[in-house]
Amino acid sequence: MTDCLFCKIAEGLIPSAKVYEDELVLAFNDIAPQAPVHILLIPKAHIESAQTLSEENDALLSRLFKVARTLAKEKGLAETGYRLITNIGNDGGQSVPHLHLHLIGGRQLKWDN
Ligand code: 5GP
Ligand code: ZN
Repeated sequence: MTDCLFCKIAEGLIPSAKVYEDELVLAFNDIAPQAPVHILLIPKAHIESAQTLSEENDALLSRLFKVARTLAKEKGLAETGYRLITNIGNDGGQSVPHLHLHLIGGRQLKWDN
């Protein structure tokens, strides 16, 4: 989708601070971090949100979680804990309509922040 911010980041048309990349997934630092570690993990292919996933995406989903685990370990969060969040739609607070996982950690997180 040409007018999608995260598609443009995945294509390298908009720069990002990449922390991981493979054929399915790109991970980069959030531009407005909410914690010492705040990484976004996206599929390179455009998927609007978790609500539009199907069984065809099982391998991708497995990969996204695997990359999240690996990055959490690399960042020293695996023992202390962290949060994986995916916002969906307007009420869910999704501002970029391209599926992404927020990997957030490095401080004590509360339910509302
Ligand atoms: P959402 O609100 O859709 O769950 O999350 C979108 C996230 O994308 C936000 O945390 C926001 O800070 C981040 N973001 C928005 N624009 C950019 C950008 O151009 N570059 C990066 N690295 N992050 C972005
Ligand atoms: Zn997209």
